[in-house]
Amino acid sequence: MPFELAEPRSLREAIASLDAKDPSVRPISGGTALMLMMKAGVLRPSRLVSLGKLGLAGIRTGPGGELRVGAMTSLRTIEKSEIVRKGWPVIARTLRTLANVRVRNVATVGGHLAHADPHMDLPPVLSALGARVTIAGAAGERSIPVEELGTGYLETSIRLDELITLLEVPPLGGRSAAYLKCTTRSADDWPAVGVAVSLDFQGDSIREASVVIGAATDKPTRLAAVERILVGRKLDENLLDEAATQELSVEGDLHGSAAYKKQLIRVYLRRAIHEARAQSR
Ligand SMILES: Cc1cc2nc3c(=O)[nH]c(=O)nc-3n(C[C@H](O)[C@H](O)[C@H](O)COP(=O)(O)OP(=O)(O)OC[C@H]3O[C@@H](n4cnc5c(N)ncnc54)[C@H](O)[C@@H]3O)c2cc1C
Repeated sequence: MPFELAEPRSLREAIASLDAKDPSVRPISGGTALMLMMKAGVLRPSRLVSLGKLGLAGIRTGPGGELRVGAMTSLRTIEKSEIVRKGWPVIARTLRTLANVRVRNVATVGGHLAHADPHMDLPPVLSALGARVTIAGAAGERSIPVEELGTGYLETSIRLDELITLLEVPPLGGRSAAYLKCTTRSADDWPAVGVAVSLDFQGDSIREASVVIGAATDKPTRLAAVERILVGRKLDENLLDEAATQELSVEGDLHGSAAYKKQLIRVYLRRAIHEARAQSR
């Protein structure tokens, strides 16, 4: 099926090239997910709006010490960035086993977040870290937590005539964070489950906890009950037993049944908390 390719040179022009009422008009960033959907015939665009000439790539820190990553920055650039490695090492570590280097060279962080496949590795990590995205549309910009981006399987709260332009991640401060991905095939496969934790320790006790899992339901899931158990308590095996026995809502898929995933989460949650503890030392 033929389609039009628009290559706007400004954000305003790009937004004007989108269509609030027509889902067959789509932005394209790296194209790694979009092209697969087109090849599979699930997407037949009438127009693709390339974001390649908008100057949306780059990594820097903001006035509050936050990480600011332009939407068109490739996943590989983020993985290799000294700023990210020093200030947010969990993001660089997560990227090392996200797909393969060929995909990471091309895929962008904006496309990654907009795609909203619940198996993706970065959304749980960024949600656990309290990251936000800036979304631009004809009426201006809005900023929302990454956690509120996904609304269902491949569905987001981004309107058809809006674009993600920026990712912002607050400084880690005293927190330590870990992401563990369990794959059932190669290490860089899509996860059967992914567990992200961000913990703030005060001595041996946990002052603040953020726990978000991926690949368990149709969007990343915050384990609020687990967080409540962890906060204000001393980290020991009894606490981990208690945290790991919480009831979870999990759906099975090609990577494993719901029962199997629940068991994986119990095991990987303990491991991720231990890893965050080790990082904090
Ligand atoms: C072989 C393979 C293996 C993979 N394995 C993994 C894995 O292990 N873990 C993992 O997390 N991911 C994995 N992925 C998915 C990969 O992370 C995504 O394909 C990629 O991040 C999408 O980014 P992109 O820039 O290519 O997006 P595109 O393909 O360009 O776009 C994806 C979607 O987002 C929309 N979009 C793009 N940019 C924007 C924007 N700025 N604002 C609003 N909407 C936008 C597009 O219209 C489209 O709907 C894999 C992909 C492949 C091809």
